[in-house]
Amino acid sequence: MDEYVEEIKDIWDSHWLTNMGAKHKTFQGELKEYLGVQNIDLFTNGHMALELSLQALNLQGEVITTPFTFASTTHAIVRNGLTPVFCDISPDDFTMDVNKIESLITDRTSAIMPVHVYGNVCNIEEIERIAKKYELKVIYDAAHTFGVKYKGKSTATFGDVSCFSFHATKVFNSIEGGAACFKDEEFGLKLYRLKNFGIRGPECVDAVGANAKMNEFCAAMGICNLRHVDEEINKRKAVVERYREHLENVEGLQLNPIQKDVEPNYAYFPVIFEEKKFGSTRNEVVEALGREGIGARKYFYPLTNTFECFHNKYDVNKTPVALHMSKHVLTLPLYADLNFDVVDKICEIVLSCRR
Ligand SMILES: *Cc1c(COP(=O)(O)O)cnc(C)c1O
Repeated sequence: MDEYVEEIKDIWDSHWLTNMGAKHKTFQGELKEYLGVQNIDLFTNGHMALELSLQALNLQGEVITTPFTFASTTHAIVRNGLTPVFCDISPDDFTMDVNKIESLITDRTSAIMPVHVYGNVCNIEEIERIAKKYELKVIYDAAHTFGVKYKGKSTATFGDVSCFSFHATKVFNSIEGGAACFKDEEFGLKLYRLKNFGIRGPECVDAVGANAKMNEFCAAMGICNLRHVDEEINKRKAVVERYREHLENVEGLQLNPIQKDVEPNYAYFPVIFEEKKFGSTRNEVVEALGREGIGARKYFYPLTNTFECFHNKYDVNKTPVALHMSKHVLTLPLYADLNFDVVDKICEIVLSCRR
């Protein structure tokens, strides 16, 4: 708190509260360095980074994506007037199954929008190969991968654009916030204008933009939290290792994979419960934890292609692996300061559901 108060004093002195002020500029520069990217722009939240990135790419027709994600990914596509085409996920790491992408490509396909689910890195080489072959844009929903590296490179550097969320619930936060990382500067200029209503100059508005500017108070929080993010990730690592000690090699449980060449950020601790082997269903485990006052999330359930707002427009049976995972997954509580005693207790409750 002291650090934050110190940081926001400048805002009082300058009277500059929003619209790309000094804190915005500092935060942007520090993130650019931390993530090792050529270009980065900041937004009110991760969702607007995704939605406006799609708009700035001028896409038409269909976008291949995954239903095993947060509402935001699919909504960003639909709110741009584009059609989501749902690709199934890999049962091992929950990201888009690259072997199923090509069969979904039509002459209307303009982009692929994969998600680095739980911080697991997508098969970026194969996605890049397919995108090149069919001349498709790639927009990564990288909301879960802040700080994650693949072969020594930040996930922010992949695709035409990679979008992050700095929501309070994420590994790294700026209260609310988001960012888009990209290489093409012309795209960046378009994106920058779109977050400010599409205003080109004092007397010229030439795009139908939104208002998605990060304010100075959020930027100040981001500056403070960035100083501690490595420590945060290390603490999460210790919590995850404690969970693994209890839950690894338990019959009927599938844990998140340890990916080759990946430096993880320990964003989530998903567990897949196969009731035939474990003895209880995912929902029974949720209830057992709930009785002890422990909240665990069915993340992601339901699949986005089953949302009421889409009125049965999409056939969920086309993504059977995603459907199965959504019905069996539970993410256990995970944050940097989670006590080992509590982790032990949570695992004890989970394991007491074995039959
Ligand atoms: C959090 C999240 C978003 C949206 O980010 P906000 O900052 O909450 O708008 C998008 N996609 C995924 C996968 C997320 O987890």
